[in-house]
Amino acid sequence: MARFCIYCGTTGDKENPVINGVCLRCRLKRKELVSLKKKSIKVSYCKICGAIKVGYKWVDTSGFEGAISFIINNIVKELLIPGSGVSNIKITGFNLKTMASWRTVVEIDIMGSYGETVFQDREEVVIYLDPVKCPRCIMYDSREFEAVVQIRGIDPSVINRVIVEELNLDNRIRRDLIEAIEVAKGIDLYFYTYGAARKIARRIAAKLGNLIVSETYEGAGMRSGKQRARLYISVKPRV
Ligand SMILES: [Zn+2]
Ligand SMILES: [Zn+2]
Repeated sequence: MARFCIYCGTTGDKENPVINGVCLRCRLKRKELVSLKKKSIKVSYCKICGAIKVGYKWVDTSGFEGAISFIINNIVKELLIPGSGVSNIKITGFNLKTMASWRTVVEIDIMGSYGETVFQDREEVVIYLDPVKCPRCIMYDSREFEAVVQIRGIDPSVINRVIVEELNLDNRIRRDLIEAIEVAKGIDLYFYTYGAARKIARRIAAKLGNLIVSETYEGAGMRSGKQRARLYISVKPRV
């Protein structure tokens, strides 16, 4: 079979290989190297604290720009589809064509291989941040939670497994857990009751060992005529 480009007729060379009857330059010109499953995406964004919803959980960001950057590197990355003859595609950078806001146009820089030859390309994606209030901010406003277990410095896959095991084992912990929120260096578990929070902290410490569990209280104002204090339990590795 003749190896020449059906569009420009070249037989190709190292810089411009012909694969499946089309050369790299023609693929680039015809925008056939990389495509996006979706040209725009919508992500829930907490207008109070800047957290965004990724899959089933909320992730903290530093605000609009942090959210956009996280979305590009974690969500848009999964939307890239390699064209014929293309492999190893990745996002190498991006720039905002509009200011980071509720609707942001982003140009992403893509690198990939066409056969053995490395190429660079660009795609445009529109990110819509859907302004909502995340569960943590709703909780803070409603002042419903009584205790927070703040787990830090433990391998995420290990701690996630232990938490799921404990939730499956114990009705009370499961019932009293309001929300689990991933933060930069760990995970926060919000509970309706002190008891459930203490129980899971104790179980995690017993199971993993070598952890320091400490408690502090913080005033949470009056409710039903009673002064209430919120319990914060810190769980971290002994150093
Ligand atoms: Zn060509
Ligand atoms: Zn929030």
